[in-house]
Amino acid sequence: MKTIAIATGNKHKIEEIAAILKPLGYTVISADELGGLPDDIAENADTFRENALIKARACAKHWNKTVLADDSGLVVDALDGLPGVHSARYAGEGGNDGRNLDKLLRNMEGVENRAARFVTVIAIVTPDGKESTAEGTVEGRIIHEKRGTGGFGYDPSFVPDGETLTFAELPAEAKNSMSHRANALKNAVKLGLL
Ligand code: IMP
Repeated sequence: MKTIAIATGNKHKIEEIAAILKPLGYTVISADELGGLPDDIAENADTFRENALIKARACAKHWNKTVLADDSGLVVDALDGLPGVHSARYAGEGGNDGRNLDKLLRNMEGVENRAARFVTVIAIVTPDGKESTAEGTVEGRIIHEKRGTGGFGYDPSFVPDGETLTFAELPAEAKNSMSHRANALKNAVKLGLL
């Protein structure tokens, strides 16, 4: 088994990344196991790619390890791409998943075009500064209500194309086989990054 450190404090992301990477022969090491994330990560770029690199660079330096970071979010066509890179803070600082999703559903009231996609960019950075990235997406639509208790974030209102259940209703294995995060990690494997 190879190991890789993951630059996130988000337990859901770690669980998903661990489940997706296990069949590829990787065990993940969480930020907690390495004493936590560095304090000063300024995740303020306007692309997923740059934000993923910011996190991975900061952690690779802090932990002196090869690090994988994931920056992700929900891109809604009718909202000109919002919440996008602002997905985690859509309802403002001090917001949370519930408030972010309530705001999204309010902003989508009466909107006919429900098309949306989740996007993940993963960045892999080594302690000596080698950098690489891979992207993955999953297309779907925003429903009018929240359904299901699995997953996290915007999952209760996102139905991937070809399904009738939301990401929060589908079993974790189903989400992890088709998600933006799974597709980004599969692309990383194809590119020979993992
Ligand atoms: P990040 O931690 O800065 O990458 O922000 C990611 C945010 O995007 C999360 O807080 C969620 O709001 C949203 N997000 C990312 N991936 C998912 C997912 O798989 N399901 C639901 N929401 C997600």
